[in-house]
Amino acid sequence: MTKQDATQTLVILGASGDLTARLLLPGLGALLAAGDAPPVTLVGAGTDEWDAERWRERVATAFGEHGKAKRAAETLDRTRYVRADVTQPDDLRRLLDGADGAISIFFALPPAVTVKACEALLDVGLPEGTRLVLEKPFGTSASSAASLNRLLTRLAPEERIHRVDHFLGKSTVLNILGLRFANRIFEPLLGSEHVESVDIVFDEELALEGRAGYYDKAGALADMIQSHLLQILALLTMEAPLSLDPQVFRDGIAEALRAVRLWGGDPKASSVRARYAGYAGEAGVDPARQTETLAEIVLAVDNWRWAGVPFRLRSGKALGTGRKEAVILFKEPPRIPDGFRGPDQPDRLRISFGPDRLALDFDINGPGDPFVLDPVTLEAEFGPGELPPYGEVLRGVFEDDPLLSVRGDVAEQCWRIVEPVQAAWRAGEVPLLEYPVGSSGPQD
Ligand code: NDP
Repeated sequence: MTKQDATQTLVILGASGDLTARLLLPGLGALLAAGDAPPVTLVGAGTDEWDAERWRERVATAFGEHGKAKRAAETLDRTRYVRADVTQPDDLRRLLDGADGAISIFFALPPAVTVKACEALLDVGLPEGTRLVLEKPFGTSASSAASLNRLLTRLAPEERIHRVDHFLGKSTVLNILGLRFANRIFEPLLGSEHVESVDIVFDEELALEGRAGYYDKAGALADMIQSHLLQILALLTMEAPLSLDPQVFRDGIAEALRAVRLWGGDPKASSVRARYAGYAGEAGVDPARQTETLAEIVLAVDNWRWAGVPFRLRSGKALGTGRKEAVILFKEPPRIPDGFRGPDQPDRLRISFGPDRLALDFDINGPGDPFVLDPVTLEAEFGPGELPPYGEVLRGVFEDDPLLSVRGDVAEQCWRIVEPVQAAWRAGEVPLLEYPVGSSGPQD
């Protein structure tokens, strides 16, 4: 029997939750249908009184058409639900009893419950080889992330701890690596000699979508910038890794993030926080928390390659236009020959994260008067990746490959970077602005 044929068990703690239904189970279904996953026994756990049929229906709905594929259908036939309070060692013991093959435990739980479940697992003891899969937010500060890391490493070695950042499972985000390190043409230009500035933007038209319970405690800075957008920044700024070995690759990510600081060191000048009009009155929102639905910070990557280039990271909800892209703006040419006339648009490389597209903007003396410059754009658009992001995440888990998971020290670095901003916001040093729903955000 090959490793690929050996049955594995995926235990989902938080079976009735939103993440499980919307992202995790559909990702599992797609992975199983793609045919390169091992046979998977799926165990759902939660506090609800569900019978086996109710859980099976939930899984079948989430699998959709994928449920007809052989391996997915087998998982559906075998899946079981266990009623359990996952903070109780006895319940966890029951849950893990009789698991087939290698076990992966996915904590699809509120963060505070995840910590309690990990503490309870210390009492239970885990079978050799068990993997732990954790969701963001990973801690709420560098010190809480560090203490969670200490707890986790008492349960499993670092290479078996998968901290999910599903952006790393997005094909375009990963394409940054291919674009930079599998070509000669872009990489020599990426640095302070040629780059003026970099924007990494994730603006959404969507508002809360019923997720106030989670979002109001997180806000845009922690929900998007501290996690996903800093990972993109790291991919854009890291040095070429020698290989995609998880240790080597994640050393490169960590090294890039260690150089990141707040631009100018002053949160008042380098951060914006705002919320859309009406947010404070929405169900589940506590106005006293002053949660932002839009955050923007400017960062410096303080190393030889990037010193002096501002990186603007921004994410907001309920905006007029969804804009999800990294834009590298190049410096002006040192001199344009006298005699050229025209639009003189800046050279830009735009990497869009949905729809997935690469675009390079520059000037050329195109048709018509040869001395009048015309703007042109070279574009490449690709379809979505073979698997949805959670399918990629689970593939890494089943294959014991933590390449796409956030290493413990990296998670701590990400908090270290945003902490001065969080402290200034908590102290009221940066005003909470308001913007109309459907607008482009707060106006200066
Ligand atoms: P939900 O509140 O929808 O689900 C949480 C689940 O945890 C519920 O099924 C709940 O079951 C269960 N649970 C809570 N306490 C216990 C307990 N003591 N024992 C057993 N089960 C328990 O949260 P989400 O699914 O939205 O989020 C889960 C995690 O994923 C969070 O860390 C979140 O930050 C993260 N995440 C979520 C995303 C999303 O889109 N939803 C996106 C990215 C990350 P019950 O109600 O029966 O108690």
